Amino acid sequence: MSALVFIICWFPAAKKGSYKYVMNKKYKWIGFDADDTIWENETFFRETEYQFAKLLSEFCDEQTIMQELYKTELDNLKDYGFGIKGFMLSMIETAIRLSKGKVGIDKISCMIELGKCMLNKPVKFIDGSKEVIESLSKKGYKLVVLTKGDLLDQERKLSKANIKQYFHHIEIMSDKQEANYNKILEHLNIEARDFLMIGNSLKSDILPVLNLGGSAVHIPFHTTWVHEEVENNKKLENFWELEQMAQLEEVLGL
Ligand SMILES: [Mg+2]
Repeated sequence: MSALVFIICWFPAAKKGSYKYVMNKKYKWIGFDADDTIWENETFFRETEYQFAKLLSEFCDEQTIMQELYKTELDNLKDYGFGIKGFMLSMIETAIRLSKGKVGIDKISCMIELGKCMLNKPVKFIDGSKEVIESLSKKGYKLVVLTKGDLLDQERKLSKANIKQYFHHIEIMSDKQEANYNKILEHLNIEARDFLMIGNSLKSDILPVLNLGGSAVHIPFHTTWVHEEVENNKKLENFWELEQMAQLEEVLGL
């Protein structure tokens, strides 16, 4: 590990305007995760989970409901994938199980409405994300969106956000493991060393890209789904952590 990278790794969360260390290499391609990197997502799931727990309060305590819902979601990931529609089905399945079949049709209808309400939320940008994307695009970077989630929902959010024009390619992925990234990089003819990935999830956005020989910037969001949490005790190379998207251009040396 070079001295420069070592310093960056150990002084990761500088305030805007205080970065002394910029990236020592140039990237042609920059990939952006979408949920909780470009726009808010996880907060809506947390709000809905609490409403779901309230709906079932006559059957169970809140903590049990949350744990059981998470267990159902994990079991269903292999069949439904990521996203709101799978989450809706998991709420219904959990409600039936925890109530031993006694949950009323009115409450099931409420769960469907909660999910539809999530699908119809307006896009709420993370501070600075749209401005940075627009600016990098104007400066000639080739930008791509690499996001997982429900296909229709993500397409709808991309349209509502009105940012498609800044991207060379948009990929809605079924999962974000090394093999998934490798396939996309090959498809787009991108050398991993020329690729920088920006995202809020160490597990899904950062570690797989670093393992392929790419570089990554982690910008944590205040809420992370338990499934996305990962322990990392390794010192990472070609890795930066920022507090906010607005710091990205500064670290890129722009
Ligand atoms: Mg994300």
